Amino acid sequence: MRFADIHGLHDTKKNLLAAVQRQQVAHAQLFSGVEGSALLPMALAYATYLNCENPGPEDACGSCAACSKSLKYIHPDVHFVFPVTGVGEIKNKDAVSKLYLKQWRTFLTTHPYGTISEWIDILGSENKQLNISREESRQIISALTLKTFEGRYKIMLIWLPEYLHPTAANALLKILEEPRPNTVFLLVSAEPEKLLNTILSRTQHIRIPPFSVEELRHILTEQHGIEADKAARLAHLADGSLQAALVRQADSEVDLHELFANWMRACFKPAFDQIARLAEDFAGLPKVAQRNLLLYGMGIMREALVAPLQQDSLLRVTGDEAAFVEKFSRVLDANQIAVMNEELNKAHYYLERNANPRTVFMNLSIITAQTFKRVTT
Ligand SMILES: [Zn+2]
Repeated sequence: MRFADIHGLHDTKKNLLAAVQRQQVAHAQLFSGVEGSALLPMALAYATYLNCENPGPEDACGSCAACSKSLKYIHPDVHFVFPVTGVGEIKNKDAVSKLYLKQWRTFLTTHPYGTISEWIDILGSENKQLNISREESRQIISALTLKTFEGRYKIMLIWLPEYLHPTAANALLKILEEPRPNTVFLLVSAEPEKLLNTILSRTQHIRIPPFSVEELRHILTEQHGIEADKAARLAHLADGSLQAALVRQADSEVDLHELFANWMRACFKPAFDQIARLAEDFAGLPKVAQRNLLLYGMGIMREALVAPLQQDSLLRVTGDEAAFVEKFSRVLDANQIAVMNEELNKAHYYLERNANPRTVFMNLSIITAQTFKRVTT
């Protein structure tokens, strides 16, 4: 994540940058804000900036060795701590963040504005209490005793420190009392009022404001391809939270036709940056909506197969959908449509068996783009 990836919030970015440029980086900083705001993205962008080898006046360069690791969340000097619990073979008492880094990177990539419930979904820990355990505080101490590998700063980013177990909170307090050179703690909290006063008093506070309605509207139309009227409606209802707007869009207002049509247009071009973004958006939809999208696509294929037969009575679609079906049946022949139908069906099968939705949608997009390419070249 870089500052440029976060829309708006210029003052917040300016203040963060100014402190680094004045070389006044506080050793413990508390980022606070509502869930679904740019809270976590801002801390991630700041961490990227701190270790960038070639930082500009407004952002990390994005291309140095440090940035390329930071952007994949694999920088060896950036440590992540977040609420976890025992999942699968891992017992509750042994659950520490480093055992779940794979899921964590998925979360950061697909839901950087996500909330604890999206994290629970990705972690697969339904109905279990998450926390940051005492064992975790031992891990923090051992990470701090390591020398920095290659970065300028060793960064310990603690997402949702309000989940700290009391003994872990006390251990953290001790650590904060003894600052170490070039070590920066970033506490990223949606409920700072739940933190120990002694922790609060040892951190510099950075308040991340919620998105304004106008900012949300802009992000929804420009980055998520949601049409203007709907984006305005969602922005008004979301209370400053991008994640809330996206969930609402996924929940009750999924326009399957619109989603599917946008997706197919991106595959037809093919516009791979758009495809990757859509795969992420789709992965963020509720599971039911993901499957419905594929079922909807299969319905379109069926219609496209019968369309050339001119048996209007068989067509169950009208308006926009009919025009779309008609285009499909013109571009692809019957065999190719059958292949597409089969691939959609397979993807649906994989999703039902809990395959990673982002991978499933990405693979399906590539196959679709190849199918289109065969007919256009
Ligand atoms: Zn860089």
